[in-house]
Amino acid sequence: MLIRNCSLEGKTGRFNVRISGDKITEITQFSASLEAKKSEEVFEADGALLTSALAEPHAHLDKAFLSERIANPTGDLMGAINAMEANRHLITVADTIERAERAVRLMASNGVTAIRTHADVTEWNSLDAVEALLEVRNRTKDLVDLQICALLGWPLSGNEGKANIQLGRRAIKMGANILGGCPHLDVDPIGANIALLELAGELDCNLDLHTDEHTDVNRLSLEDLAERVVATGFSNSVTASHCVSLGMQSHDTQQRVSEKVAHAKIGVVALPHTNLFLQGRDTHSAPPRGLTAIAALRRAGVRVAVGADNLQDPFNPIGRGDPLESAGLAILTAHQLPEDAFLSVSSVARDIMGLADAAPKVGSIADLMLTPSATIREAIASAPPRTLVIRHGHVTFSRLAQPKR
Ligand SMILES: [Zn+2]
Repeated sequence: MLIRNCSLEGKTGRFNVRISGDKITEITQFSASLEAKKSEEVFEADGALLTSALAEPHAHLDKAFLSERIANPTGDLMGAINAMEANRHLITVADTIERAERAVRLMASNGVTAIRTHADVTEWNSLDAVEALLEVRNRTKDLVDLQICALLGWPLSGNEGKANIQLGRRAIKMGANILGGCPHLDVDPIGANIALLELAGELDCNLDLHTDEHTDVNRLSLEDLAERVVATGFSNSVTASHCVSLGMQSHDTQQRVSEKVAHAKIGVVALPHTNLFLQGRDTHSAPPRGLTAIAALRRAGVRVAVGADNLQDPFNPIGRGDPLESAGLAILTAHQLPEDAFLSVSSVARDIMGLADAAPKVGSIADLMLTPSATIREAIASAPPRTLVIRHGHVTFSRLAQPKR
Protein backbone atom coordinates (compact mmCIF):
# COMPACT_ATOMS: atom_id res chain seq x y z
CA MET A 1 0.00 0.00 0.00
CA LEU A 2 1.22 3.50 -0.85
CA ILE A 3 -0.18 6.66 0.76
CA ARG A 4 0.85 9.60 -1.39
CA ASN A 5 1.09 13.26 -0.51
CA CYS A 6 0.36 13.19 3.24
CA SER A 7 1.57 15.55 5.99
CA LEU A 8 3.37 14.39 9.13
CA GLU A 9 3.17 16.26 12.45
CA GLY A 10 6.19 18.51 13.03
CA LYS A 11 7.71 17.89 9.61
CA THR A 12 7.74 20.33 6.70
CA GLY A 13 6.73 19.21 3.25
CA ARG A 14 4.63 16.31 2.04
CA PHE A 15 5.44 12.62 2.17
CA ASN A 16 4.81 9.25 0.60
CA VAL A 17 4.39 6.40 3.05
CA ARG A 18 4.72 2.80 1.96
CA ILE A 19 3.26 -0.12 3.92
CA SER A 20 4.15 -3.77 3.40
CA GLY A 21 2.40 -6.43 5.40
CA ASP A 22 1.52 -4.89 8.75
CA LYS A 23 4.50 -2.48 8.94
CA ILE A 24 5.55 0.91 7.58
CA THR A 25 8.53 0.15 5.36
CA GLU A 26 9.36 3.47 3.70
CA ILE A 27 8.76 7.19 4.19
CA THR A 28 10.05 9.53 1.48
CA GLN A 29 9.52 13.14 0.44
CA PHE A 30 6.47 13.44 -1.77
CA SER A 31 7.17 13.12 -5.41
CA ALA A 32 4.37 13.18 -7.94
CA SER A 33 6.36 10.94 -10.22
CA LEU A 34 6.87 8.12 -7.69
CA GLU A 35 5.78 4.90 -9.33
CA ALA A 36 3.61 2.53 -7.40
CA LYS A 37 4.74 -1.06 -7.33
CA LYS A 38 2.78 -3.63 -9.22
CA SER A 39 -0.49 -4.50 -7.47
CA GLU A 40 0.15 -1.86 -4.80
CA GLU A 41 -2.94 0.02 -3.58
CA VAL A 42 -2.41 3.79 -3.89
CA PHE A 43 -4.26 6.32 -1.74
CA GLU A 44 -4.06 10.04 -2.52
CA ALA A 45 -3.98 11.89 0.81
CA ASP A 46 -4.12 15.36 -0.71
CA GLY A 47 -2.09 16.83 2.13
CA ALA A 48 -4.11 15.27 4.99
CA LEU A 49 -2.31 14.54 8.28
CA LEU A 50 -1.13 10.95 8.78
CA THR A 51 -0.89 9.91 12.43
CA SER A 52 -1.05 6.86 14.61
CA ALA A 53 -4.53 5.38 14.79
CA LEU A 54 -6.40 5.98 18.06
CA ALA A 55 -6.95 3.64 20.98
CA GLU A 56 -9.76 3.53 23.54
CA PRO A 57 -8.17 2.12 26.71
CA HIS A 58 -11.34 2.07 28.82
CA ALA A 59 -14.84 1.49 27.47
CA HIS A 60 -18.00 -0.22 28.71
CA LEU A 61 -19.37 -1.49 25.42
CA ASP A 62 -21.95 -3.66 27.19
CA LYS A 63 -23.71 -0.49 28.38
CA ALA A 64 -23.34 1.65 25.24
CA PHE A 65 -26.43 3.48 23.97
CA LEU A 66 -28.64 2.66 26.98
CA SER A 67 -29.47 6.32 27.73
CA GLU A 68 -33.03 6.21 26.42
CA ARG A 69 -33.76 2.90 28.13
CA ILE A 70 -32.23 3.47 31.58
CA ALA A 71 -32.28 6.87 33.32
CA ASN A 72 -29.89 7.93 36.08
CA PRO A 73 -32.16 9.75 38.53
CA THR A 74 -29.38 11.24 40.68
CA GLY A 75 -26.75 11.74 37.98
CA ASP A 76 -23.92 10.35 40.12
CA LEU A 77 -22.00 7.06 40.13
CA MET A 78 -24.25 5.19 42.55
CA GLY A 79 -27.32 6.49 40.71
CA ALA A 80 -25.98 4.91 37.52
CA ILE A 81 -24.98 1.63 39.20
CA ASN A 82 -28.34 1.28 40.98
CA ALA A 83 -30.23 2.11 37.78
CA MET A 84 -28.29 -0.59 35.90
CA GLU A 85 -29.06 -3.25 38.51
CA ALA A 86 -32.75 -2.28 38.73
CA ASN A 87 -33.13 -2.56 34.95
CA ARG A 88 -31.07 -5.66 34.18
CA HIS A 89 -34.24 -7.37 33.00
CA LEU A 90 -34.39 -4.90 30.08
CA ILE A 91 -31.03 -6.12 28.72
CA THR A 92 -30.45 -9.29 26.74
CA VAL A 93 -27.32 -10.87 25.29
CA ALA A 94 -28.62 -10.25 21.74
CA ASP A 95 -29.27 -6.58 22.33
CA THR A 96 -25.93 -6.15 24.10
CA ILE A 97 -24.24 -7.58 21.00
CA GLU A 98 -26.14 -5.13 18.75
CA ARG A 99 -25.30 -2.03 20.85
CA ALA A 100 -21.68 -3.01 21.49
CA GLU A 101 -21.03 -3.83 17.84
CA ARG A 102 -22.58 -0.47 16.84
CA ALA A 103 -20.21 1.27 19.27
CA VAL A 104 -17.15 -0.57 17.92
CA ARG A 105 -18.05 0.31 14.32
CA LEU A 106 -18.58 3.96 15.30
CA MET A 107 -15.18 4.08 17.03
CA ALA A 108 -13.50 2.32 14.11
CA SER A 109 -14.85 4.96 11.74
CA ASN A 110 -13.27 7.56 14.03
CA GLY A 111 -9.81 6.02 13.69
CA VAL A 112 -9.84 3.57 16.61
CA THR A 113 -8.04 0.27 16.04
CA ALA A 114 -7.77 -0.96 19.65
CA ILE A 115 -10.35 -0.98 22.43
CA ARG A 116 -10.24 -2.27 25.99
CA THR A 117 -13.77 -2.79 27.22
CA HIS A 118 -14.91 -3.77 30.67
CA ALA A 119 -17.73 -6.31 30.93
CA ASP A 120 -20.00 -6.40 33.99
CA VAL A 121 -19.59 -9.74 35.75
CA THR A 122 -21.94 -9.72 38.73
CA GLU A 123 -24.29 -12.07 40.52
CA TRP A 124 -27.17 -10.33 38.70
CA ASN A 125 -26.03 -10.63 35.10
CA SER A 126 -23.52 -13.46 35.58
CA LEU A 127 -21.48 -13.92 32.38
CA ASP A 128 -23.99 -12.46 29.90
CA ALA A 129 -21.88 -9.38 29.12
CA VAL A 130 -18.74 -11.47 28.59
CA GLU A 131 -20.66 -13.79 26.27
CA ALA A 132 -21.97 -10.82 24.26
CA LEU A 133 -18.60 -9.08 24.03
CA LEU A 134 -16.82 -12.28 22.96
CA GLU A 135 -19.26 -12.44 20.05
CA VAL A 136 -18.59 -8.76 19.25
CA ARG A 137 -14.85 -9.40 19.40
CA ASN A 138 -15.30 -12.15 16.85
CA ARG A 139 -17.55 -10.05 14.58
CA THR A 140 -15.18 -7.06 14.58
CA LYS A 141 -11.85 -8.90 14.58
CA ASP A 142 -10.86 -7.32 11.26
CA LEU A 143 -11.54 -3.79 12.59
CA VAL A 144 -10.06 -3.59 16.09
CA ASP A 145 -8.04 -5.37 18.73
CA LEU A 146 -10.76 -5.82 21.35
CA GLN A 147 -9.58 -6.60 24.88
CA ILE A 148 -12.23 -7.73 27.36
CA CYS A 149 -11.77 -7.02 31.05
CA ALA A 150 -14.05 -8.97 33.41
CA LEU A 151 -15.35 -6.29 35.79
CA LEU A 152 -16.15 -8.25 38.93
CA GLY A 153 -18.84 -7.19 41.38
CA TRP A 154 -18.25 -6.84 45.09
CA PRO A 155 -17.52 -7.99 47.76
CA LEU A 156 -14.39 -9.88 46.77
CA SER A 157 -12.74 -10.82 50.04
CA GLY A 158 -13.58 -13.46 52.62
CA ASN A 159 -16.46 -15.93 52.45
CA GLU A 160 -18.81 -13.30 51.04
CA GLY A 161 -16.49 -12.80 48.07
CA LYS A 162 -16.27 -16.43 46.99
CA ALA A 163 -19.13 -16.27 44.45
CA ASN A 164 -17.65 -13.22 42.72
CA ILE A 165 -14.17 -14.74 42.65
CA GLN A 166 -15.58 -17.90 41.08
CA LEU A 167 -17.34 -15.80 38.41
CA GLY A 168 -13.96 -14.18 37.67
CA ARG A 169 -12.39 -17.59 37.08
CA ARG A 170 -15.20 -18.54 34.71
CA ALA A 171 -14.98 -15.23 32.80
CA ILE A 172 -11.26 -15.67 32.09
CA LYS A 173 -11.81 -19.31 31.16
CA MET A 174 -14.52 -18.21 28.68
CA GLY A 175 -12.07 -15.88 26.94
CA ALA A 176 -11.95 -12.54 28.76
CA ASN A 177 -8.34 -11.28 28.65
CA ILE A 178 -8.07 -9.16 31.78
CA LEU A 179 -9.34 -9.18 35.34
CA GLY A 180 -11.03 -6.08 36.76
CA GLY A 181 -12.99 -4.92 39.76
CA CYS A 182 -13.94 -1.93 41.87
CA PRO A 183 -12.06 -2.02 45.21
CA HIS A 184 -13.30 1.47 46.08
CA LEU A 185 -16.91 0.20 46.14
CA ASP A 186 -16.05 -2.85 48.24
CA VAL A 187 -16.69 -2.86 51.99
CA ASP A 188 -13.03 -3.83 52.28
CA PRO A 189 -11.02 -2.03 49.53
CA ILE A 190 -7.67 -3.41 50.71
CA GLY A 191 -9.12 -6.92 50.90
CA ALA A 192 -10.36 -6.43 47.33
CA ASN A 193 -6.88 -5.38 46.15
CA ILE A 194 -5.45 -8.50 47.79
CA ALA A 195 -8.13 -10.79 46.33
CA LEU A 196 -7.79 -9.38 42.80
CA LEU A 197 -3.98 -9.61 42.80
CA GLU A 198 -4.17 -13.21 44.06
CA LEU A 199 -6.77 -14.19 41.47
CA ALA A 200 -4.85 -12.52 38.61
CA GLY A 201 -1.72 -14.37 39.79
CA GLU A 202 -3.59 -17.68 39.91
CA LEU A 203 -5.04 -17.12 36.41
CA ASP A 204 -1.84 -15.52 35.06
CA CYS A 205 -3.67 -12.53 33.58
CA ASN A 206 -3.35 -8.74 33.59
CA LEU A 207 -5.28 -6.47 35.95
CA ASP A 208 -7.23 -3.29 35.20
CA LEU A 209 -8.97 -1.95 38.29
CA HIS A 210 -11.51 0.81 38.71
CA THR A 211 -9.62 2.65 41.42
CA ASP A 212 -10.75 5.46 43.75
CA GLU A 213 -13.57 6.64 41.52
CA HIS A 214 -14.74 9.26 44.04
CA THR A 215 -13.71 12.65 45.39
CA ASP A 216 -13.34 11.61 49.06
CA VAL A 217 -9.91 12.83 50.09
CA ASN A 218 -9.88 10.32 52.98
CA ARG A 219 -10.05 7.25 50.77
CA LEU A 220 -7.09 6.32 48.58
CA SER A 221 -6.58 2.66 47.68
CA LEU A 222 -4.19 3.42 44.78
CA GLU A 223 -1.25 3.73 47.16
CA ASP A 224 -1.98 0.31 48.66
CA LEU A 225 -2.28 -1.18 45.18
CA ALA A 226 1.11 0.22 44.16
CA GLU A 227 2.79 -1.01 47.36
CA ARG A 228 1.18 -4.42 47.03
CA VAL A 229 2.16 -4.89 43.36
CA VAL A 230 5.80 -4.32 44.35
CA ALA A 231 5.61 -6.39 47.56
CA THR A 232 4.02 -9.40 45.87
CA GLY A 233 6.27 -9.22 42.80
CA PHE A 234 3.17 -9.40 40.59
CA SER A 235 4.70 -9.59 37.15
CA ASN A 236 1.77 -9.09 34.76
CA SER A 237 0.64 -5.63 33.74
CA VAL A 238 -1.49 -3.54 36.11
CA THR A 239 -3.68 -0.61 35.09
CA ALA A 240 -5.46 1.70 37.52
CA SER A 241 -8.42 3.46 35.93
CA HIS A 242 -10.05 6.67 37.20
CA CYS A 243 -7.94 7.38 40.36
CA VAL A 244 -10.11 10.47 40.89
CA SER A 245 -9.40 10.95 44.59
CA LEU A 246 -5.68 11.32 43.86
CA GLY A 247 -6.64 14.60 42.21
CA MET A 248 -8.10 15.77 45.56
CA GLN A 249 -4.89 15.15 47.56
CA SER A 250 -2.23 17.65 48.62
CA HIS A 251 0.69 18.24 46.29
CA ASP A 252 3.00 16.20 48.57
CA THR A 253 0.64 13.23 48.70
CA GLN A 254 0.15 13.31 44.92
CA GLN A 255 3.92 13.24 44.47
CA ARG A 256 4.50 10.43 46.99
CA VAL A 257 1.74 8.23 45.56
CA SER A 258 2.75 9.00 41.96
CA GLU A 259 6.29 7.86 42.67
CA LYS A 260 5.00 4.58 44.10
CA VAL A 261 2.74 4.10 41.07
CA ALA A 262 5.70 4.73 38.76
CA HIS A 263 7.87 2.28 40.75
CA ALA A 264 5.15 -0.38 40.44
CA LYS A 265 4.95 0.33 36.67
CA ILE A 266 1.18 0.77 36.94
CA GLY A 267 -0.41 2.51 33.96
CA VAL A 268 -3.13 5.02 34.80
CA VAL A 269 -6.18 5.74 32.66
CA ALA A 270 -7.90 9.09 33.28
CA LEU A 271 -11.52 9.32 32.21
CA PRO A 272 -12.55 12.97 32.13
CA HIS A 273 -15.71 12.44 30.10
CA THR A 274 -17.59 10.32 32.59
CA ASN A 275 -15.99 11.60 35.77
CA LEU A 276 -16.82 15.23 34.93
CA PHE A 277 -20.42 14.08 34.58
CA LEU A 278 -20.61 11.85 37.67
CA GLN A 279 -18.39 13.53 40.25
CA GLY A 280 -18.69 16.72 42.27
CA ARG A 281 -22.48 16.86 42.35
CA ASP A 282 -22.57 17.33 46.12
CA THR A 283 -20.22 20.32 46.01
CA HIS A 284 -21.91 23.57 45.14
CA SER A 285 -18.99 25.98 45.33
CA ALA A 286 -15.87 25.39 43.25
CA PRO A 287 -16.78 21.76 42.45
CA PRO A 288 -13.84 19.44 41.75
CA ARG A 289 -12.99 18.46 38.20
CA GLY A 290 -13.40 14.73 38.83
CA LEU A 291 -9.99 14.00 37.41
CA THR A 292 -6.85 12.27 38.61
CA ALA A 293 -3.59 14.14 39.18
CA ILE A 294 -2.39 13.79 35.61
CA ALA A 295 0.46 16.31 35.89
CA ALA A 296 1.89 14.80 39.11
CA LEU A 297 1.65 11.27 37.70
CA ARG A 298 3.42 12.31 34.48
CA ARG A 299 6.16 14.14 36.39
CA ALA A 300 6.84 10.94 38.32
CA GLY A 301 7.14 9.01 35.06
CA VAL A 302 3.77 7.25 35.12
CA ARG A 303 2.20 6.43 31.77
CA VAL A 304 -1.17 8.22 31.74
CA ALA A 305 -3.67 7.41 29.02
CA VAL A 306 -7.05 9.05 28.55
CA GLY A 307 -10.26 7.22 27.73
CA ALA A 308 -13.96 7.97 27.45
CA ASP A 309 -15.36 5.30 29.81
CA ASN A 310 -19.06 5.35 28.96
CA LEU A 311 -20.93 6.13 25.77
CA GLN A 312 -24.48 7.48 25.96
CA ASP A 313 -25.63 5.47 28.95
CA PRO A 314 -26.61 6.16 32.60
CA PHE A 315 -22.96 6.97 33.44
CA ASN A 316 -22.47 9.47 30.61
CA PRO A 317 -25.35 10.66 28.45
CA ILE A 318 -23.14 12.01 25.67
CA GLY A 319 -20.03 10.97 23.73
CA ARG A 320 -19.33 10.47 20.03
CA GLY A 321 -17.08 7.42 20.25
CA ASP A 322 -14.13 9.59 19.24
CA PRO A 323 -10.95 9.62 21.38
CA LEU A 324 -10.17 13.07 19.95
CA GLU A 325 -13.07 14.24 22.12
CA SER A 326 -11.32 12.74 25.19
CA ALA A 327 -8.03 14.36 24.11
CA GLY A 328 -9.82 17.71 23.92
CA LEU A 329 -11.14 17.26 27.45
CA ALA A 330 -7.61 16.45 28.68
CA ILE A 331 -6.45 19.77 27.22
CA LEU A 332 -9.25 21.74 28.87
CA THR A 333 -9.55 20.01 32.22
CA ALA A 334 -5.98 18.79 32.86
CA HIS A 335 -4.12 21.53 30.98
CA GLN A 336 -2.33 19.04 28.77
CA LEU A 337 -0.54 20.20 25.62
CA PRO A 338 -2.33 19.02 22.46
CA GLU A 339 0.58 16.76 21.50
CA ASP A 340 0.58 15.07 24.94
CA ALA A 341 -3.21 14.75 24.86
CA PHE A 342 -2.94 13.03 21.47
CA LEU A 343 -0.30 10.61 22.76
CA SER A 344 -2.60 9.76 25.67
CA VAL A 345 -5.27 8.51 23.22
CA SER A 346 -2.78 6.81 20.89
CA SER A 347 0.79 5.69 21.75
CA VAL A 348 0.47 5.77 25.55
CA ALA A 349 -2.94 4.12 25.49
CA ARG A 350 -1.55 1.39 23.20
CA ASP A 351 1.45 0.91 25.50
CA ILE A 352 -0.78 0.46 28.55
CA MET A 353 -2.81 -2.04 26.51
CA GLY A 354 0.38 -3.96 25.69
CA LEU A 355 0.30 -3.02 21.99
CA ALA A 356 3.24 -1.92 19.85
CA ASP A 357 3.66 1.76 19.02
CA ALA A 358 1.98 2.89 15.81
CA ALA A 359 3.57 6.32 15.35
CA PRO A 360 4.14 6.98 11.63
CA LYS A 361 7.78 5.97 11.31
CA VAL A 362 9.61 3.20 9.47
CA GLY A 363 9.29 -0.10 11.31
CA SER A 364 6.11 0.84 13.19
CA ILE A 365 3.01 -1.28 13.07
CA ALA A 366 0.72 0.17 10.38
CA ASP A 367 -2.21 1.26 12.55
CA LEU A 368 -2.74 4.70 11.05
CA MET A 369 -5.32 7.32 10.22
CA LEU A 370 -5.62 10.25 7.86
CA THR A 371 -7.33 13.40 9.14
CA PRO A 372 -7.92 16.45 6.94
CA SER A 373 -6.14 18.81 9.35
CA ALA A 374 -2.83 20.68 9.27
CA THR A 375 -1.74 19.77 12.82
CA ILE A 376 -2.65 17.50 15.71
CA ARG A 377 -3.98 20.51 17.62
CA GLU A 378 -6.31 21.33 14.75
CA ALA A 379 -7.37 17.68 14.46
CA ILE A 380 -8.37 17.65 18.14
CA ALA A 381 -10.06 21.07 17.93
CA SER A 382 -12.09 20.36 14.79
CA ALA A 383 -12.28 16.55 14.92
CA PRO A 384 -13.18 16.33 11.24
CA PRO A 385 -14.31 12.95 9.84
CA ARG A 386 -11.30 10.67 9.37
CA THR A 387 -10.66 9.97 5.70
CA LEU A 388 -8.70 6.71 5.99
CA VAL A 389 -8.15 4.22 8.82
CA ILE A 390 -5.64 1.39 8.57
CA ARG A 391 -5.11 -1.49 10.97
CA HIS A 392 -2.25 -3.98 10.65
CA GLY A 393 -1.70 -2.73 7.09
CA HIS A 394 -5.33 -3.20 5.99
CA VAL A 395 -7.90 -0.48 5.34
CA THR A 396 -10.73 -0.68 7.88
CA PHE A 397 -12.50 2.55 6.95
CA SER A 398 -12.20 4.95 4.02
CA ARG A 399 -13.85 8.05 2.70
CA LEU A 400 -11.25 8.34 -0.07
CA ALA A 401 -11.86 7.46 -3.67
CA GLN A 402 -11.16 3.83 -4.53
CA PRO A 403 -7.42 3.24 -4.62
CA LYS A 404 -5.70 3.29 -7.99
CA ARG A 405 -3.75 0.19 -8.85
ZN1 LIG B 1 -15.19 2.34 33.84
